[in-house]
Amino acid sequence: MRIVLLGAPGSGKGTQAALLTRQLGLPHISTGVLLRAAVSAGTDLGKKAKAVMDRGDLVSDDIMLGLIEERLGQSDVQGGFVLDGYPRNIAQAEALDALLKRLGQPVEEALQIDVDEEQVIARISGRAAAEGRVDDNEAVVRNRMKVYAEQTAPVIAFYARKGVLTRILGEGSIEEVFQRINSVLRSRA
Ligand code: AMP
Repeated sequence: MRIVLLGAPGSGKGTQAALLTRQLGLPHISTGVLLRAAVSAGTDLGKKAKAVMDRGDLVSDDIMLGLIEERLGQSDVQGGFVLDGYPRNIAQAEALDALLKRLGQPVEEALQIDVDEEQVIARISGRAAAEGRVDDNEAVVRNRMKVYAEQTAPVIAFYARKGVLTRILGEGSIEEVFQRINSVLRSRA
């Protein structure tokens, strides 16, 4: 199954993607994880991306498309994948759509995890303390929320128009949210 997980920063989509990939035996493709690995490794791409990420802005569509194209070209994605953190704007959604059409493997499920902003800010502050992420300080978090509202939220309507979107209530425990996701996927099987 080819799944895209959508949701604001701190919505818990990374956690849910990890649970889902373990359960389904699919690769978890997180563009945030790929970018942070490139930054740690000090690659050219990582050097270009770091300042942008530290501000909470979006890395350029060209860089992101190259990254995602390379990842989706690897053999472990044959049976499907869970995409987490991509697409982040309409241009990326269209690029992904064209790429997957070329591969004959369109997105089958887009799951939007809905949470309210206060809850998100509380979660992200907790993560900042736990993981020491530079992009989790308050000013940067606010910018990430703004970028999300302006650029990423329209992607929800993009997948709704394609008829593959389901909204999931992101409130409650990790297990509760995971159960909601599972019941949606079961209803498709
Ligand atoms: P994440 O871990 O998904 O929250 O991503 C962390 C940061 O990486 C984001 O705030 C962006 O700066 C960058 N990033 C991740 N995915 C993308 C993407 N699809 N497009 C542009 N920038 C991205």
